[in-house]
Order: sequence, then C-alpha cells, then structure tokens
Amino acid sequence: MDDEKLKYDTILTHAGRDPSRHLGAVNTPVYRASTILFPTLAALEAKEGTKLRYGRRGTPTTHALEDAVCALEKADRALLAPSGVSAISTILMSFAEPGAHILMTDSAYGPARKFCEFTLRKFGVETTYYDPTVGAGIEALIRPETKLIWMESPGSQTFEVQDVPAIAEVARRHGIVTAIDNTWSGGYFCQPLTQGVDISIQAGTKYISGHSDLLLGTIACRAEQYDRLRETYLRFGVCVGADDAFLALRGLRTMAVRMAHHHQSGLEVANWLLQQEEVCRVMHPGLPGDPGHTLWRQQFTGASGLFGFVLRPADRPALGRMFDGLSLFGMGSSWGGFESLLVPSNPSVYRSATTWAPGGQTVRIHVGLEDPADLIAELRAAFDRLRE
Ligand SMILES: *Cc1c(COP(=O)(O)O)cnc(C)c1O
Repeated sequence: MDDEKLKYDTILTHAGRDPSRHLGAVNTPVYRASTILFPTLAALEAKEGTKLRYGRRGTPTTHALEDAVCALEKADRALLAPSGVSAISTILMSFAEPGAHILMTDSAYGPARKFCEFTLRKFGVETTYYDPTVGAGIEALIRPETKLIWMESPGSQTFEVQDVPAIAEVARRHGIVTAIDNTWSGGYFCQPLTQGVDISIQAGTKYISGHSDLLLGTIACRAEQYDRLRETYLRFGVCVGADDAFLALRGLRTMAVRMAHHHQSGLEVANWLLQQEEVCRVMHPGLPGDPGHTLWRQQFTGASGLFGFVLRPADRPALGRMFDGLSLFGMGSSWGGFESLLVPSNPSVYRSATTWAPGGQTVRIHVGLEDPADLIAELRAAFDRLRE
C-alpha cells in the first residue's frame, strides 16, 4: 500500500491490516498470548531482536492497532495502554525527576491534574497550571527545570481551544517536550504531531472504540520520544489485551462515517441550543461566535459530538425534573459512543489558574448517532420540565 498517495479515510480503512498474513481474514484476529514459543535455542537467544517475544510486549493484534493509531495520528510510533488515564500517567511519569517542573493547562482532564498533585508531587515534581488561552505567552511561565508542557484542546468540560502550534513552537525553541490530550477530536479531526506537538494521547475509550464497551489509551509520538516513553511503559507493565485491541480496530474502521455524523448533528443541536432562552451560553468551537472558533478552524477539520452549555440559574428540583425525564440521552461518565449523553458538570471546583463562574449550571452534552431531530425534541421537552 503506497500510503503517500491515498486519502486519509482510505488509509484508516486499511492501516494495520494484512489479510495475507492471517489466512485471508479481513480483520487481524485476536491473538491471546502470554507465552511465545521459540523453536530452537538459537531463536530463543535471538528473541531480544524479535517483535513477538512475550504477550505483554505485544501480539499481532496489538501491533495492528499500533500501526492503525500511527496512521490516525500521523505519528512515527504508538503505544497502547489499558485506559486513557494510564496513557496520561505513563507520559507524565516519563518526564518526572526530582526538581522537574511541568506546565499543565488549567482545562486538563481532572485525573491528569490529580496525577500531578498526588503522585508526581511526592517525588518532588512541581506542576504549574496555566490559562488554556495563554498561547505564545506560555514562554513567560517556562523555567530552566521545565520538562514538559501538557495541553488539552478543546479543554475538558469547558472547551477552550488552545493555540497549539504557538505553544509547540515556544516549547521547541526551549527544548521542552509537548504532549496533548487529543481525545476530543478522536485523532480524526486533528493530528497534533503535524502542528509541532511531540506526543498525542487519547482515551481510545471514546471515539476510537465508539461503542461504549471498551477501555483503552493510545500514545502516539515522534520517533525521538519513543524510547523514553517505552521505558516507563515497560517498567510499569502497561499493556492491552488482544480482545480489547480487536474491538478498538473494529471501531476505528467506521470512524470516518461516525465522526462526520457527530460533527453534523453536534452542530445542529448546538445551534438549536443557542436559540433557547433557558441557555445562556454554548461552548462549541464550531460555532462562529465561540471564542475558540478561529483557532479551531485553523487546527481542526471538524468537530466531534461533545460540547457544553450553561443553563440560566435554576433550582435543584427544576434540574431534577429536567434530567430525570430523559430517555434518549443517558446520564453517565465517558462519551464518544454511538449514544447521546447529558450530564451536569462542575468545572469551578478544580480550576486554579483561571476561574469558571458562568452564572448557571454547566452541562456537558454528547451528541450521538441518533437523528438530531429526536434529540432536539427530547431537549425541548426537558426544558419544558425545567420551567414547570
Ligand atoms: C475519558 C477521558 C480520559 C480518560 O480515559 P479513560 O479511558 O476513562 O481512562 C482522558 N482524557 C479525556 C479528555 C477524557 O475525556
């Protein structure tokens, strides 16, 4: 396959697949393996140099997914972790040493912050949180001991778009490694490594899986970062089972059509919400009025189905009526599956470099693959109950 000439969607359909090596099977089968046997003493002695040597170090199924993740993120190398959080902590740990300093966006996914506050702090690593909209101004926060700049764009819960190329450029000039949580775009709408970032992680749990039945983390990186990450990865025994890798590959094959639908329906619902009197703000970078819209247009080719909005002040019983009567929208953690979700969120509690005081209840919405007309009808009924 001459990848150079093919369009991105075509590459995603074929990457990490070689039926000729699997008796013609279209999908790489599930290789459940811990022990790998070597036929001769000479082969056993040479195993250090072989790709297949022990299940924890990968099987044909996980290797296929690594190859597909490289294609998705336009990366040199990829590593797989059992969850998004595991991918995050593997990277953060790779840059930890006594006295080291990390810069992390204030809009980062909560558990990424917690890893810095609870785990890295114990080893003498200090983290400074920065305003997600800092852009090239990040330079003023850099110290001689700064080892890593962590980004997430758009931010968890609040959806600020970061000036990723500007931050990556400053970091490069100072010899600092950059990492980004790219879960929102699924990797499909944004490939941060093409914008100067060194490491891109995802909760593959979300859009790569696409079906709410799998936990997975992906780490995509430049060749220069691979050995350092791989070292931490091996020491912690991070690995992914073949069944989960198989499901992730299966999800990835339909990513192009799913993401196009999330983009379209998400914007339709966001535009509708913008016109509702119960809603005082919609945080969706695809809306022309959103503060991050220009940056989003420069850095992304589309929007996923996840965004936020803020309700006008309402009391707890009214919110209870609104949320309890939902049937298409589910209430629960995670997102990126085929189903729609609606959950209240409270970003105010963990912010430290910026404040989040939007003047009403913040809500996170995931627009799934249902017909958006049905979703809008359900939201209209929910707002009716809110007003009762
Ligand atoms: C869900 C999520 C994660 C963590 O993924 P898990 O697989 O649940 O560990 C990481 N980052 C972001 C932005 C997420 O939304």
